[in-house]
Amino acid sequence: MNELIGRVFDFQSRVFPDQSALYAQLAQHGQSPKALMISCADSRVVPEDILQAAPGDLFVCRNAGNIVPAFATQNGGVSSTVEYAVAALGVRDIIVCGHSDCGAMKALMNPSMLTGMPNVAAWLRHSHAAQCVVDASYPDLEGADAVRAAAQENVVVQLSHLRTHPSVAAGIARGEIALHGWFFDIQQGCVLALDGESGRFMPIREGSPMPVALAAGRRRAFDLQGDEVAA
Ligand code: ZN
Repeated sequence: MNELIGRVFDFQSRVFPDQSALYAQLAQHGQSPKALMISCADSRVVPEDILQAAPGDLFVCRNAGNIVPAFATQNGGVSSTVEYAVAALGVRDIIVCGHSDCGAMKALMNPSMLTGMPNVAAWLRHSHAAQCVVDASYPDLEGADAVRAAAQENVVVQLSHLRTHPSVAAGIARGEIALHGWFFDIQQGCVLALDGESGRFMPIREGSPMPVALAAGRRRAFDLQGDEVAA
């Protein structure tokens, strides 16, 4: 048997008994995860590891390229996961996490790699804006640097898609949801976070305020008083 598959026996006999009280509590009272994390399916990016999350802590949605299709472009797993996390579970922090050396981003920047993968090619259309931003804003970047830039710009694009989802838009308007854009560097083991004020990714440092893509805060575009004055 594949050695990895066989480790399930180790979970049942050795790991679970130590955590049985936690699992029992979660089974009886249900889940109340503290955040939704949308990350790449890459085996080297492990949300529970990065956040040191225990069972019940983190609602996770993983796919190639940590993509969130804009609302109504695709009724699928990601949209449903986002809606359930926000509407049913009341998650208040949503993290979109890209990473270094991302195969999806390599394919985005080098479409010839997509031969024989029509589904991946179609899926990556949801990241097309990131490719266009890299072409427009970083014309001199090549190779690994262009892929790294694409991975970070892709996080920005997917965060904007996230805001088109009605449950997320309403939660943001109520001031209940904060958005986080992260980039995990596999080699360095460090996380960069998107700072919504400057629009740049910055290192996360203990003791410094955590950069946030969109801080929670009630917002209304319609200014009732201003509107009355204008009238
Ligand atoms: Zn990836």
